[in-house]
Amino acid sequence: MLSAFRLIKKSRMGFFRRLWPKDNFADKAAFTFTHVGLIGICLFQLFVVLPLYHENFSTMFYVHFGCGLFILYQAFSNMYKSILVDTTVRGSSFNLPSVLLPDWRYCPICQVNTPLRAHHCKMCDVCIIKRDHHCIFTGKCIGYLNHRYFFVMCCYLWLGCFYTLNFNKEYYLDVLGGFHWSLIFQLMCPMLAFLLGMANSHQLVILVVGGVNMMAMFLFSCLMCFQIFFISRGQTQFECKKKIKDYSQSFLDNWIVVLGKRWYLTWISFTIESDLPGNGTRFKKGTYENFKTL
Ligand SMILES: [Zn+2]
Ligand SMILES: [Zn+2]
Repeated sequence: MLSAFRLIKKSRMGFFRRLWPKDNFADKAAFTFTHVGLIGICLFQLFVVLPLYHENFSTMFYVHFGCGLFILYQAFSNMYKSILVDTTVRGSSFNLPSVLLPDWRYCPICQVNTPLRAHHCKMCDVCIIKRDHHCIFTGKCIGYLNHRYFFVMCCYLWLGCFYTLNFNKEYYLDVLGGFHWSLIFQLMCPMLAFLLGMANSHQLVILVVGGVNMMAMFLFSCLMCFQIFFISRGQTQFECKKKIKDYSQSFLDNWIVVLGKRWYLTWISFTIESDLPGNGTRFKKGTYENFKTL
């Protein structure tokens, strides 16, 4: 019994160790901030805002509670999946060839031949298959095998921000005394507004929470727009910067390269299988005409 308990404890510790970003301080700070922020905003909704507007255990209480829980589960599960999926060339399912194949490159740091669209990440210190970018919030690179989970996570984080902002709007305005132009200054400099006597301590807390909520909404809206733009054009962030337009196919095929063949089900759960077209070593070269029509 004791050994079984120790085994469970050990496997849990191993799980958390795999999630925790390696070495990079910025990754660790962003990872912690995301978790504290997400959990904090959920507790705030549950214990402060929800009881004010809906009676405990009423139908609407359960509706909002259920919606919040669903969004939180989707955001966290897709985030953890994107961290745990190994999209590096070292963890790849294919054998790296000892001779340089056409379109492949040699990485002097990893000392292996890497496929088309793979690039070395300085933070992860390894080559990533179809590298998109290094995400500081997950502490991992986003590449061919985890791009789906990252994108779904972004969608749910955006939806969560939108939902909370709308749900809290009335509460924020009630506490802050309705909309007035000086509110913009108070939101931008809450501490200064408090010191100048424009806000009391309760209003200061709401200014900070509301400000973070709005900033997060802006950040995730930008992130979503960029991701939709890059994916629709069949480009990674690196390729967009370098103006590489070689891999763009039809609009739908570009999305299948990221979300897989069952793209329309990926929003339901990270556990739904959606096969990608290939193992990340070969990509169909599209025509420039396809690219121009987007
Ligand atoms: Zn490398
Ligand atoms: Zn990286």
